[in-house]
Amino acid sequence: MQDYDIIVAGAGIAGSMASAMAGKMGSRVLLLDKNGKDEPGKKTVWGWVCGDAVAKSHIDFVKKNLGNIFNGEDLGIPVDGVVALSPDLDYKLPFEGEGFSLERPIFGSSLFKAAIKNNVEFRGGFNIEAPLIDNGKVIGVVGRNAKGELEKITAKVVVDALGISSLLRRKLPDNIYIDREIDYEDLELTGRFIYKLEEFDQDSKYYDPKNALIHLNQRMAPGGYGWVFPKKDGRVNVGLGVQHKSLEIRNAKMGEKDNLKSLMDKYVKWNKVMKKYSIDNSFKNGEGYWSVSVRRQMESMVFPGYIGAGDSMASPNPLSAGGIGPALIGGILAGKKAAECAQAQNCELNDLWDFNIQYNKQYGSKMAGMEVFRIFLQSMNDHDIDYGMKSFITYQEAVEITYGRIPELSLTSKMGKVIRGVKAMRTFRDLIWTVDTMKSLNKLYDAYPQRPEEFPEFKKKVQAVINEAKTRMPPSPV
Ligand SMILES: Cc1cc2nc3c(=O)[nH]c(=O)nc-3n(C[C@H](O)[C@H](O)[C@H](O)COP(=O)(O)OP(=O)(O)OC[C@H]3O[C@@H](n4cnc5c(N)ncnc54)[C@H](O)[C@@H]3O)c2cc1C
Repeated sequence: MQDYDIIVAGAGIAGSMASAMAGKMGSRVLLLDKNGKDEPGKKTVWGWVCGDAVAKSHIDFVKKNLGNIFNGEDLGIPVDGVVALSPDLDYKLPFEGEGFSLERPIFGSSLFKAAIKNNVEFRGGFNIEAPLIDNGKVIGVVGRNAKGELEKITAKVVVDALGISSLLRRKLPDNIYIDREIDYEDLELTGRFIYKLEEFDQDSKYYDPKNALIHLNQRMAPGGYGWVFPKKDGRVNVGLGVQHKSLEIRNAKMGEKDNLKSLMDKYVKWNKVMKKYSIDNSFKNGEGYWSVSVRRQMESMVFPGYIGAGDSMASPNPLSAGGIGPALIGGILAGKKAAECAQAQNCELNDLWDFNIQYNKQYGSKMAGMEVFRIFLQSMNDHDIDYGMKSFITYQEAVEITYGRIPELSLTSKMGKVIRGVKAMRTFRDLIWTVDTMKSLNKLYDAYPQRPEEFPEFKKKVQAVINEAKTRMPPSPV
């Protein structure tokens, strides 16, 4: 006899959604988090570290499955979209369509309340240390309760929603399905401030009250980007992400000693429209640092007795680093699958496998292709990005790529016409290779293994392509 049908580990975005969904379907669910009930989804001592932007389509997915669980205040303000600017600021590329700039602590609370409303039992102050394993299967978790005592709790299935540094994922037995560690090169070190703007000029290249701006700039944010996202009541979320390796190369070539913090300070100063501002430290959430992964989600997100959702499975979009949407979707689908399996009393690998298929169908199938495009972008310096964005592809083609859809590129017709210089020619060839590779990865994922037995071959193929991309296009920020 297990203590619960389902243990959901982590009451952040993915965990609140998984438990709300499973609770709604009638399962007996225990939701565990190190935070108490007043701070659901707080990632670290730094707070709810995030850019806070999410596409409306992802919020609609939640409403479709759980009803309207939002109170309006949580969704902050609507934005027309995310706009990426070239390093010279001359070219704007829209991403993802309309969305919201969330009030993240309040949003986390709304998701958590949806779980509680669906009869989920919550225990805060519980630090999860490892999965409980029996005969190669996850049968529960081990952790320390609020009194510091070690406790073992069992369930038919465990949902891992512990975020990027999940101790459940990292302490799984060695296996082919889920990578226990995330490669350092596939991480973005990120930080962000929330400011109250007291005085600012108008220039929508630096701050746009209607759009979430992304600044591509390999000198300011090597291997990543900077962002200025508008918030309610004249506030902004300003942040920066860097890839460690790109930062090292950039520092060595430029003779600098910058780190994430110094780059963030420089980025804020560079923003010429922000004249006077102060940290908004509501919820003690004004300044924070954390990591986000920018690889494809784990090729499999299930293991016997275990389903992963959200950052624990590296689910953020590799191009935008947007992880709220995939955590909402992954959480809801994981909750559904966990409830079905628990009710059927079968939570073996075969029984859970359908989660992989459903997640890829709903969101994940384009992410490996997006990862290759991210590797391509990281291989270019600012000049290449400026030139490439304007010369290599049409506006519509670029938009298609940001959705992971592969346009029938008019590239080859441009070959020779627009390209000047050996370096530009090489970048152009890499672009053609990248787009073709995205196409073949999308095809591979469209035929995602229907059964676990077909998985090793699939994973081998995906990894070979990603490794080839990394070898062919190493980071070259300056
Ligand atoms: C600086 C930054 C900016 C970002 N900007 C955006 C953005 O603008 N848009 C977007 O879509 N995404 C953004 N992301 C990504 C997004 O924040 C994450 O993808 C999202 O929070 C993932 O949700 P999650 O539920 O999977 O994990 P988390 O939000 O990390 O939640 C994990 C939960 O598990 C709990 N937990 C962890 N370990 C333990 C343990 N051992 N025991 C008990 N409990 C534990 C934590 O307390 C937490 O409640 C950003 C990330 C960063 C770092």
